[in-house]
Amino acid sequence: MTQRNAEVLIAGAGPVGCTAALALARAGVSVIMVEGCGTLPLELRASTFHPPTLDLLEELDLTRRLIPLGLVTRDYQYRDRSTGEAAVFDLGLLANDTGHPYRLQCEQYKLTQVVCEMLKDYPHARVLFGRQVIGARQDGGGVRMLCFTGEQEELYTGRYLIGADGANSAVRKSLTMRYEGFTYPEKFLVLSTPFDFAAHMDNLSNVNYVADPQEWCVLLRTADLWRVLLPTVPGEPDEKFLAPEYAQERLNAVVPRDEPYEVAHSTLYWVHQRVAETYRVGSIAIAGDAAHINNPLGGMGMNGGIQDAIVLAEKLIAILQESAGDDLLDVYDRQRRAIATEFIQKQTIQNKERMESLDPDAQRKRQAEFMRIAANPRRARAFLLRTSMIEAWRDSVALGQA
Ligand SMILES: Cc1cc2nc3c(=O)[nH]c(=O)nc-3n(C[C@H](O)[C@H](O)[C@H](O)COP(=O)(O)OP(=O)(O)OC[C@H]3O[C@@H](n4cnc5c(N)ncnc54)[C@H](O)[C@@H]3O)c2cc1C
Repeated sequence: MTQRNAEVLIAGAGPVGCTAALALARAGVSVIMVEGCGTLPLELRASTFHPPTLDLLEELDLTRRLIPLGLVTRDYQYRDRSTGEAAVFDLGLLANDTGHPYRLQCEQYKLTQVVCEMLKDYPHARVLFGRQVIGARQDGGGVRMLCFTGEQEELYTGRYLIGADGANSAVRKSLTMRYEGFTYPEKFLVLSTPFDFAAHMDNLSNVNYVADPQEWCVLLRTADLWRVLLPTVPGEPDEKFLAPEYAQERLNAVVPRDEPYEVAHSTLYWVHQRVAETYRVGSIAIAGDAAHINNPLGGMGMNGGIQDAIVLAEKLIAILQESAGDDLLDVYDRQRRAIATEFIQKQTIQNKERMESLDPDAQRKRQAEFMRIAANPRRARAFLLRTSMIEAWRDSVALGQA
């Protein structure tokens, strides 16, 4: 059986695994990152990078490489679908709080592609594709990760293992811990199209939360496409929602057209709100969707996961350089689990409730409140500090020092 060794093993080359691998490699730590797919996945999931994430990725020399691949987005809006009234939030109000007072609209796969290119400059970092992690074990001598290539098993050994292998994490399952929370009954449908919504809807931003008692949606622009995120009806078959005529129906409800929409992608997602019972067991830690998952409204899953990766990598570097004991991993658990449970879960659940209220009167009142907040720079800044995750990052730093 093939056997390979590194100081840190990483399961999964998503945005979280890649960020951790780069942070560790830059500090001289030897890393093996294994990815189950044969190449980097090109799924269209996260597209929003928040300001504190851009600040952190700058320290890894990543932000300047991502900016040309995305859209710098200085404002975003909460919009009433029936009236077209929009509360526009100006991220420029955060100019004294962050080096990047904007959202970057950029697909998550671009981050992983850039990182894997950068890792080629570090001989002590290896990225291996087509290796499915099937189990993880540990004892006093370190960690062991077993992978399957489709033809043979391979054994990897190291001092620490990061499970960044997503929501169905094999690493988390091997630790037999609970992944507590719930799954919403309805799935979300994401349709992407080259159709330019901004040319047909007044005053649209690149990120638009469009509330409506019947048909709420989120309209997101990336460099190449617009993405429309919509809820579906619980209990109905996936084939219905993935049928081409259903996409036409839903897109025509946003902007009616005489000719058919070109639909580049149509994807259905289960939506979960869950947090693992611990982020650390001995020399194995989990991060990103392996550790916490939430609905995508507000764009906090990948951002929170990248922040986990950076905090975890910092702690592993300190431990491996012998400037700290490995109880520092307990601080990682406390610090980042608190942010997931106390901030990300609450905020994203609230974001969804705001969009889907069935009561038109409540909807009108909420839109009026958004308009008042957006028009008042002091209140708007406080709102943006929370929704752009700056406040949560500051809390995370404070928890790490406590
Ligand atoms: C529609 C939608 C929109 C979203 N928009 C946003 C947004 O704008 N902003 C935001 O912050 N978040 C957003 N999210 C959430 C975001 O996509 C996730 O939080 C993010 O992908 C988590 O990154 P990760 O690296 O932890 O996991 P993943 O991206 O799931 O990566 C895990 C990797 O591990 C690999 N893997 C899995 N199992 C194994 C195994 N056994 N062995 C080896 N490899 C394995 C997978 O192939 C994958 O490459 C969105 C999610 C959805 C569904």
